[in-house]
Amino acid sequence: MEKTVPEKLTPLMQQYFDIKQQFTDTLLFFQVGDFYELFFDDAKIASAFLAITLTKRGKNNGADIPLCGVPIHALDHYLVKLIRGGFKVALCDQLTKPQPGTVVQRGITRVFTPGTLIDAGMLDDKSASYLLTFYPLPDRWGILFTELLTAQLFATTVPADSYRHIEAELIRFFPDEIILPKLKKIEHFDTYFKKMGYCTSFIDAHIQANDVQSEEEPKSSESQAWIEQQFPAQAVRTIHQQPAFEQSLTTLYHYLKRNQSASLEQFKSIQFYEPDDYLILDLATQKNLEIINNTQDGGRKNTLFSVLDHAKTPMGSRTIKKWLSRPLVQKTSIIQRQEVVKELVSNFELTRKLDDNLSNIADIERIIGRIALTRATLHDYSALKNSLSLMPKIKQLLSKLAHVPLAQAIAEKIADFTPLVQLLELSANDDTALSYTIKPGFDLELDRLRGLSTNGHEAILALEQQERIRTGISSLKIGYTHQTGYYIEITNPNLDKVPADFMAQQTMVGRKRFISQQLKALEVEILQATAQIEQLEATIFARVKLEVAHYLAPLRHAAQSIAYLDGLFGFAAAAHHNRYITPEFNDRQEIIISAGRHPVVEESLGHLFVPNNTNLTIDESLWVITGPNMGGKSTYLRQVGLICIMAQCGSLVPAQAASLPILDRIFTRIGSGDNVAQGKSTFLVEMEETAVICTQATSKSLVILDEVGRGTSTFDGIALAQAIIEHIFTQITAKCLFATHYHELTELAAMHPGIKNYHLASTKKGDQLLFLHKIEPGVAPGSFGLDVAKLAGLPHSITQRAKTILHQLQATSEAHQKPTQQSFLYHAAHTTSIDSDEEQLHQTIRNLELQVTQQQELLAQLTNLDINNLTPRQALEFIWDLKEKLNEKD
Ligand code: ATP
Repeated sequence: MEKTVPEKLTPLMQQYFDIKQQFTDTLLFFQVGDFYELFFDDAKIASAFLAITLTKRGKNNGADIPLCGVPIHALDHYLVKLIRGGFKVALCDQLTKPQPGTVVQRGITRVFTPGTLIDAGMLDDKSASYLLTFYPLPDRWGILFTELLTAQLFATTVPADSYRHIEAELIRFFPDEIILPKLKKIEHFDTYFKKMGYCTSFIDAHIQANDVQSEEEPKSSESQAWIEQQFPAQAVRTIHQQPAFEQSLTTLYHYLKRNQSASLEQFKSIQFYEPDDYLILDLATQKNLEIINNTQDGGRKNTLFSVLDHAKTPMGSRTIKKWLSRPLVQKTSIIQRQEVVKELVSNFELTRKLDDNLSNIADIERIIGRIALTRATLHDYSALKNSLSLMPKIKQLLSKLAHVPLAQAIAEKIADFTPLVQLLELSANDDTALSYTIKPGFDLELDRLRGLSTNGHEAILALEQQERIRTGISSLKIGYTHQTGYYIEITNPNLDKVPADFMAQQTMVGRKRFISQQLKALEVEILQATAQIEQLEATIFARVKLEVAHYLAPLRHAAQSIAYLDGLFGFAAAAHHNRYITPEFNDRQEIIISAGRHPVVEESLGHLFVPNNTNLTIDESLWVITGPNMGGKSTYLRQVGLICIMAQCGSLVPAQAASLPILDRIFTRIGSGDNVAQGKSTFLVEMEETAVICTQATSKSLVILDEVGRGTSTFDGIALAQAIIEHIFTQITAKCLFATHYHELTELAAMHPGIKNYHLASTKKGDQLLFLHKIEPGVAPGSFGLDVAKLAGLPHSITQRAKTILHQLQATSEAHQKPTQQSFLYHAAHTTSIDSDEEQLHQTIRNLELQVTQQQELLAQLTNLDINNLTPRQALEFIWDLKEKLNEKD
């Protein structure tokens, strides 16, 4: 916004500036009559983004004031667009009725930011909306995730400067907005988060400082009082012990106080967690395995989530998403979920009935959230009532699983809401044909007033009839407008019959409007009744709301239970639909899968998908996997990772049998991806990801590496790949699948008993390469890159030429292999013991490289030769010289 202080302001603009200065990073929607108007830069930004007209109103320091506006009734439409576009919006409403000669009072009534949305139309049904409060202290960084509509807080701290930790947490919660304290040196965090595509907001540093330090500032104890009042004593102690927690909470307090103050009351507990309380999946792994979002367009299609999300309610879908983002590491908790899923899969009748009931349950988790924030609509209350009326049936169905502890725990958390259902049944109007809030029959006085109002309308009709007879004007009409109230309308040809007691009110084209004493008296009666009805309805509805609010805690528990149950139901339905089995867990850290399938790929391929075994045991803890391009290596690697993740979420898995460990982390390094935005090349990203794996993986981790080392020259790549394999195998001892086209790496199996070679089988039928997609022991005969290139439609001339070059390269390579020479890798693996052999090998490589260079030089000379300007003698000398040089090489 323009900073220049205007010389002389109209009272309206003065009011605007006063309010705007408190919301500098927010678009201010300033109500002027039936419109919200935006001024200055806000107007320019909003008009450009919303494609609405930019105009001007008045002057500021001699310059036009840019202006744009949206009608109040169309607000929602524009709000959704702006918020989804990452903007924040403050609504500044008229608080008093316009009176001539006075300025209407205005104030901020609501602030919309991406992380504080609560209205159904603005939120994604299938995604929880989190707000992250980030507070960096010199030693530790505080991380606090808030889900407003469920009143849940998740807090942790990470060591300062551990950006990887932050990224892993961001991936687990994927916040819609990140709040940062306005502190010195915070800018680089702002840039950091923004570069990753997050929306950031600041809360004023001096509020922070005052809150923490100043004694004379009344705000100083506000957030402390809030913390102490809201949370249990034990939680308060933990908060005080860890300054990063305390500062994060304080920051959150101030932010919500400004933007969503009604929400502060509702937080009653806080969940402190350590990053390794859940299976750790870093950013690369989440992306590579396409768990929540696909790599094509970032959408849900073809993701693990899309396969497993068979939930019946949006809250069930959100629960599944949460589980997939934060898989468990506690065996007992995993088994508890698994037991319910298994029961639901085997008990078809029960599942069918649950399906019927869950399908009719609304998104009560969010409805209850809106009730807590006093933002629920009449429709919310009706939907809540309908959903609650299904609870007894659901509880009864769960009683059939009396032997399953989690099912019972879920049932126990669903209270008896009969009185509440009755109250809502009697009070909240759900007949859309009536414009009532409160049902007829609920309140005697309301019914009486409504009767008066209806009678009044009937009296108007009777009066109309009576006046027609009295005046003899059959076209006489009684009408109503908001501006003037009731009127009697007479057409011009009948004006001479107007009686003396009609008082002229308005002249229209071809007719005149009048008012009479009798009509005026009736109008007063009707308007009084209408106003009384509105007031009484509001009072009764407020009473009903208050009554409902008393149930908030049990309602939240019930909603959470239903969300949980529906998540488990979703898993069960997916398992039933896709023929999944229950995995077992072993303590030997072995991954043994019989006839495993890729859950997403099998959805599109159906019975054409070839199942594969996995046997990552103590004796075979690292597999080097070769195979042709398109042979199915990447699919296989991902399949193993996904099966392990599914199992740790409590889901059943796509296999015939599976015995799995409880993993602490899954790392993947798959495919090439650069990060140009952060100035990183493909190879640098590849090495960074690999570095994370090599430093953070443990013996309880699964490491999946696909074609590591491909982003650089062949020798550098092979050398790095081998060193990485050796490190993972000997130092980390993690279970590892390593797919590669470097066949040289398969020789490692001969040196390390625990490293095994596997390949994706293929066969040739005539000239045609057939992919069998079957994992088998041993090394693949080749990568068949040329065959795949042919399949891909590369022009024949190119594949033919490539074939010739390939033959030449193979011939050259064979010619320089001494019959007795051991392979490159063997030498590399025995560096200390056989230095001379290694030297010999390096010499061979150097010779090879030299030869290629020299041959290229000779070819260049030949190409550049200007034959037209050569004498016969010069030509002969050139050929002679060429021959001599070639002889030298031989
Ligand atoms: P490249 O080395 O070229 O990256 P790749 O060996 O990693 O190839 P994938 O990308 O895994 O091969 O698989 C190629 C295609 O083969 C997949 O898109 C899928 O359609 C099919 N495929 C993979 N695995 C199977 C399987 N088990 N059963 C049937 N089809 C499969």
